Amino acid sequence: RGDAEKFEFQAEVSRLMDIIINSLYSNKDIFLRELISNASDALDKIRFLSLTDKEILGEGDNTKLEIQLDKEKKILSIRDRGIGMTKEDLIKNLGTIAKSGTSAFVEKMQSGGDLNLIGQFGVGFYSVYLVADYVEVVSKHNDDKQYVWESKADGSFAISEDTWNEPLGRGTEIRLHVREEELVKRYSEFINFPIHLWASKEIDVEVPADETAETETSEDEEKEETDDEDSEKKPKTKTVKETTYDWELLNDVKAIWLRSPKEVTDEEYAKFYHSLAKDFSEEKPLSWSHFNAEGDVEFRAVLFVPPKAPHDLYESYYNTQKSNLKLYVRRVFISDEFDDLLPKYLSFLRGLVDSDSLPLNVSREMLQQHSSLKTIKKKLIRKALDMIRRLADEDPDESTDKTGILNEKKGQYTKFWNEFGKSIKLGIIEDATNRHRLAKLLRFESTKSDGKLTSLDQYISRMKSGQKDIFYITGTSKEQLEKSPFLEKLNKKNYEVIFFTDPVDEYLMQYLMDYEDKKFQNVSKEGLSLGKDSKSKDLKESFKDLTKWWKDALAADNVDSVKISNRLSGSPCVVVTGKYGWSANMERIMQSQTL
Ligand code: ADP
Ligand code: MG
Repeated sequence: RGDAEKFEFQAEVSRLMDIIINSLYSNKDIFLRELISNASDALDKIRFLSLTDKEILGEGDNTKLEIQLDKEKKILSIRDRGIGMTKEDLIKNLGTIAKSGTSAFVEKMQSGGDLNLIGQFGVGFYSVYLVADYVEVVSKHNDDKQYVWESKADGSFAISEDTWNEPLGRGTEIRLHVREEELVKRYSEFINFPIHLWASKEIDVEVPADETAETETSEDEEKEETDDEDSEKKPKTKTVKETTYDWELLNDVKAIWLRSPKEVTDEEYAKFYHSLAKDFSEEKPLSWSHFNAEGDVEFRAVLFVPPKAPHDLYESYYNTQKSNLKLYVRRVFISDEFDDLLPKYLSFLRGLVDSDSLPLNVSREMLQQHSSLKTIKKKLIRKALDMIRRLADEDPDESTDKTGILNEKKGQYTKFWNEFGKSIKLGIIEDATNRHRLAKLLRFESTKSDGKLTSLDQYISRMKSGQKDIFYITGTSKEQLEKSPFLEKLNKKNYEVIFFTDPVDEYLMQYLMDYEDKKFQNVSKEGLSLGKDSKSKDLKESFKDLTKWWKDALAADNVDSVKISNRLSGSPCVVVTGKYGWSANMERIMQSQTL
């Protein structure tokens, strides 16, 4: 078109589109799920705005989402009455602004990642090029005229004011010129709006029977018919199949969280999770909790532990505020970026909260301040930690489970720990109220755990009689720590020592002072006591000259003191950190951070 303005795709977006268009990925119908999810988001947005401004909706049915297929022209179109996009939105959202997920997704794809995860990287729209070679986006936002965005995925797109299509009123229609006839009606459940499909249907119609036409009735039946007096008086008809077209409702809009947990099957929860998290891997959530809170503040909630941590969970940990819970007030969707429903360390959880105790017709900012939110948050944390605790309890420790029966739940907590263990540690640091509860969930390896993960409770149950402290050592790896001279005597005396090998563990141990009345003792620090040694006083006396000479030989600033110790058995000497100083491992971490 002559008056169309041309734009280049941002470079990363262009690369992404190349990957998609050339992909041999067979599960192509994921594009439909992405488009339905975008349409649903757009409907959510306009519905939210209409809470404070009724005028915004305009006339007509405002919660519609329609899918239509023109078989001859091979055009599949998806139309919503959502918020729509202005010209500027079209330019930014569909081509010129690269989101952080764009390059992350391109990288994933280049190392053989799963295209199915596209929605999680915030670039789901481009999946249309799995099935189409030409795409038009017609959109009308309340603040602008109707525009058409179009692209053949050749590095550029064009935008024109729409003077030829039917006016949409408001909303968006995506038209896919599909390469092959592909259309699947899946993934449409749990979308909060009715989805209508313009579909063909075979129906039975009665038509006057044509006497001359060939019929398949046998002679016997004809005879019977003529014998029947009644039938002779009626006009003769026959039934034929005819194809008609009509809008067919695809999804049963039924809110899972309003049902009783007893009535919802595991499969339904898994499906619900997949649509909430836009995660369409085959993997089931590791656990979930569905409950109804009553009392001063009423709400229903469903929480899920995802099977995998998102690609950027800890990368953006300190920059993100948002929790991944969808907030509904009296069945109306409010936001999925609501701050402060859960603390940061639990932001990996997915789920939904629907409360009757919050007001509907107020701004998001006012809602954010509402006093009920504090109570909701507190209960959500408690329920979330209970759910994780249950996962840990159901996961039988292999060394004690002697039944030999294969348990489906086995290994689930180890999986959880590998994906989200760091979140539990961050929780211990950040959440003083729940510190003990979180410490119970802590897992680690030790000198006696035999390559498996073990817990503080298990450590305590194995403590030697007379042992007062819980011993641990920090470093870069278990292999490195196993060789440490600090362990010599402890191993010899059969004391168990915990290995902490994650950089976050150093910070963790500044907050975790004790557990079940037992103090934590870093075995590379001053203060290690392994019981009384009757000879220690004599030894101290007879080596006095040596220790004094040594202390003087080392420049005064370098060491605080030189002492006779009973903590070694093979090595002649070891450098110990002062009780309140940084451990050598912490020095190492701090150094690597300032470099
Ligand atoms: P995401 O949905 O994760 O943001 P997408 O690539 O699916 O990523 O969509 C990009 C953006 O395009 C959306 O954030 C939204 O702003 C806009 N968009 C896409 N489809 C629609 C639609 N049907 N109505 C309004 N805006 C849309
Ligand atoms: Mg999307």
